[in-house]
Amino acid sequence: MNISDNLKHVQSQIVTACANANRNPSEVILVAVSKGHPIEHIIEAYSVGQRQFGENRVEEMRQKYPQISYTDISWHMIGHIQSRKARDIPAYFDTVHSVDSLHLAQKLADATEKSGKSRLDVLLQINVSGEASKSGFFAVNWMNSPDVRADLWNNIRQICVLPNICVVGLMTMAFIADDPEETRPIFSGLRQLRDALVDDLHISLPHLSMGMTDDFMVAIEEGATMVRVGRAIFGER
Ligand SMILES: *Cc1c(COP(=O)(O)O)cnc(C)c1O
Repeated sequence: MNISDNLKHVQSQIVTACANANRNPSEVILVAVSKGHPIEHIIEAYSVGQRQFGENRVEEMRQKYPQISYTDISWHMIGHIQSRKARDIPAYFDTVHSVDSLHLAQKLADATEKSGKSRLDVLLQINVSGEASKSGFFAVNWMNSPDVRADLWNNIRQICVLPNICVVGLMTMAFIADDPEETRPIFSGLRQLRDALVDDLHISLPHLSMGMTDDFMVAIEEGATMVRVGRAIFGER
């Protein structure tokens, strides 16, 4: 396993997926998901130019963060955050992909203010697939259900006016599929939801965080601007 070769391969797959969709590869941010991997692997990826890294646990980040002296890494929190741990987030992370409740958003806004950081970028995690195991704002059938839509719109409207946090987009996780094509409707659905929110609420949501090792090419074809890739870069955890 060679992290540098793996990164090159993933980058070339990103270029291919962008070509398939007539997109510019510079629109896609590769977040290297280093959860479960030691510092040495992060350093190896950094040494070949990788600057965006994703972690999913506050405790793990607390251990790793002091051991890394590079100041030009952008850290992404991609895992579920218990609200009592929100206060630690701004010290470690630049972007949070996993905001899944109004309550958590409020906690993060407070924590950012207390941290002295000027702002925290956040994405709202959306459950478009309806699997019970997927956290996120419930958006199953939002197009046809006025109740789902009202609830979701109402939450997002309130989050967007919170101080200190800046809502930059939406995030979703697809189900595990044998064929990544099966996940395409999840990704196109998130894009449609984003477009509807932008139209209705007059907000800007430039980012769609979607796609992991098994499905990032399909996600890019459907408009992903951030892909969260772990195993294809660092190997199995
Ligand atoms: C672990 C994880 C990833 C990366 O998954 P891989 O299959 O290793 O690419 C992406 N997003 C989230 C939310 C994760 O927890």
